[in-house]
Amino acid sequence: MANVRLENIKKVYEGNVVAVHEMDLEVKDKEFVVLVGPSGCGKSTTLRMIAGLEEISGGDLYIDGQRVNDVPPKDRDIAMVFQNYALYPHMSVYENMAFGLKLRKLPKEEIDERVRAAAAILGIGDYLDRKPKALSGGQRQRVAVGRAIVRKPKVFLFDEPLSNLDAKLRVQMRTEISKLHQRLGATMIYVTHDQTEAMTMGDKIVLMKDGVVQQIDTPLEIYAKPLNKFVAGFIGSPAMNFFVGLLEKGKTMMFAEHEGGLRLPIPKKDQARLKSYIGKELTVGLRPEQISIAGTNVIGASRTKAKVTVEVVEPMGNETYIYFSTRKDSTQFVARVNSTKKPATGRPLDLVFDMGCAHFFDQQTEKTI
Ligand code: ADP
Repeated sequence: MANVRLENIKKVYEGNVVAVHEMDLEVKDKEFVVLVGPSGCGKSTTLRMIAGLEEISGGDLYIDGQRVNDVPPKDRDIAMVFQNYALYPHMSVYENMAFGLKLRKLPKEEIDERVRAAAAILGIGDYLDRKPKALSGGQRQRVAVGRAIVRKPKVFLFDEPLSNLDAKLRVQMRTEISKLHQRLGATMIYVTHDQTEAMTMGDKIVLMKDGVVQQIDTPLEIYAKPLNKFVAGFIGSPAMNFFVGLLEKGKTMMFAEHEGGLRLPIPKKDQARLKSYIGKELTVGLRPEQISIAGTNVIGASRTKAKVTVEVVEPMGNETYIYFSTRKDSTQFVARVNSTKKPATGRPLDLVFDMGCAHFFDQQTEKTI
C-alpha cells in the first residue's frame, strides 16, 4: 500500500518566485500519475517536494496517511529516477545498483538477489561489470531504473527520465516503464513535458501551467473534455485548431470566423449551452482529425464544406497533415487526413469541418463553455 496526498501544497523560491500554487492531488495505491506541462510550470518542483529534495513552503504532504513534510528523503521510502541518470561513474553497474542497499546494511546475499532480479527484469544482466561510460544512453537509463527497483520503495518518482534518449528508444522505454509498472504494481509519479508520454503512460494526468493545476483526469477524459483552451491545445498532436469569431443567431445558430470568413453551423446539442454568447465573440476548437478533404464524405447537419488555401502538406506515411489558411497568408490551421490524398500547395481546397465534436471557449476566461 502506498498512496500520496498533496493538500494545499505550495512552493515559493527565494525572490518570491511562486513555483507551485496551492496544489491538491491524490495519488492512489498502484496508480501511475503523470505530471505534465510546459517547461517551468512547476512539475519538477512538485516531484522534488514529494521526494523531500525541496522544502515545502506551505500545505501538507502525506504518504500512506503519514504527514511527511519534515521527514528527510531517506526516510520517505521513495526512489527517484533522474533525467541525467545520476549514476556513479567510478562504480560498475552492479555497484551502482547495490550502493543504496549497502548503505542500508542489507545482507550481502539479499543485495545480490535483488540486484540480479532487477537486472533480469530490465535486461541488463550482461552489463553488471561495466562502468556507466561503457553503456549506451538507454542502458544507463535502465541502470538508473534498476537502482530504484532494488530498493523496493513505496513510491517511484520519475523526473523526465526519457528526455535524453533518441526518439525510437524513447518509445521503447515508454512501454518498458509501463510494463514495469504493471509488473511491480507500484505507485508511480512521472514528470514529463511530452504530452504523448502523458497520454500513453498515465492512469491519470495532472496538467499544470504557471504552477497551477489546470486539470486532473484520465488521458481520454482530458482529451475529450478539456476544461479550458490551454488544456485543449496542450493535449493532442498536431494541436487543436482555434478559430475566433462571432456567434450569430440567424435561422440556424452559426459561428462566423473573423479572419477568413468560415461559417460553421452550431450543432443542435450545443445551442442551448451557447445561447448567452449570441452576438459575442468566442473561440471554436476543432482537432485536426475533425477536418477532412471534401469528396466522398457526407455533408450533414454539423458537417460543413468550406474552401481554404493549402500552405504546406506533410505526408507522414500513414496519414497526411495539411496546413491551411482560411484566408491567404492568415493564421495557419491543420487537418489530419487519409494518406492517399496529397493536395497541391498554394491552391484552394474544399475541406469538411465536423462541428459534431467541436469545443467552445469563452474569449475572456478561456474556459470551456
Ligand atoms: P518544470 O519542471 O515544470 O520545468 P520547475 O519546477 O523546474 O518547472 O520550475 C518552476 C518554476 O520555479 C520556474 O519558474 C523556475 O524558474 C522556478 N525555479 C525552479 N527552481 C528554482 C530555484 N532553485 N530558485 C528559484 N526559482 C526556481
